[in-house]
Amino acid sequence: MYDVAVIGSGPAGASAAIFTAKAGKKTVMFDGDLGVTKRAWVRNHYGVVDVDGPNLVATGKQQAQQFGTESVEAKVTSVSKSGDGFKIVTESGEYEAANVIVATGFWTDLADNLGVKTKDGTEPRVKTIIDVDAEGRTNVPGVWAAGTVAGVSVHTIVTAGDGARVAINLLSELAGSRYVDHDVLKQPE
Ligand SMILES: Cc1cc2nc3c(=O)[nH]c(=O)nc-3n(C[C@H](O)[C@H](O)[C@H](O)COP(=O)(O)OP(=O)(O)OC[C@H]3O[C@@H](n4cnc5c(N)ncnc54)[C@H](O)[C@@H]3O)c2cc1C
Repeated sequence: MYDVAVIGSGPAGASAAIFTAKAGKKTVMFDGDLGVTKRAWVRNHYGVVDVDGPNLVATGKQQAQQFGTESVEAKVTSVSKSGDGFKIVTESGEYEAANVIVATGFWTDLADNLGVKTKDGTEPRVKTIIDVDAEGRTNVPGVWAAGTVAGVSVHTIVTAGDGARVAINLLSELAGSRYVDHDVLKQPE
């Protein structure tokens, strides 16, 4: 069983997987190639000068894999409660995970069979979102949501930031104290 399953490897999902995998959590990340970021020409992402969406998404996936995330290129067709965790059914196999982070962008179709509450979106062109609390928890314990699907502004820096924020809140809940992930620059001798 995985500690964390992330559904969606756009800016929100991959950013979350970077943090959970780097924290040593066994992380699997799924993507069904339905994302919108691949159509973006991004000039307003802090710290990155002019990047096309496909490259931004590919780099995010590489970073998540670098820390041990297993990346599965398959659409998730259902997520359901199973024992102490969740069963994730994809077009190419089934998986088990203790926690789930939904980062599916404009897509909320997985919410219904999981019993996750949704509500009307408030951002332009976002019809429906998953109802989350301030930390990113849904009404189903163990299921979190981040990025566009959780109602944040539809910009890569914001959705990537939200993915990181929600992952840190999940890691903090698992640790029972606030989680911090800082690496220190080695000073020249
Ligand atoms: C034409 C265009 C131009 C844009 N330009 C900019 C810009 O200049 N600057 C900017 O900041 N933002 C821009 N954006 C917005 C930005 O690309 C994204 O909207 C935002 O970052 C969304 O991130 P996300 O991770 O929430 O969603 P997405 O990037 O959409 O990622 C969601 C992922 O979930 C996956 N998924 C969904 N359902 C399933 C499922 N059932 N199983 C498996 N995988 C699933 C999808 O394949 C997708 O990869 C632009 C968007 C568009 C469309």
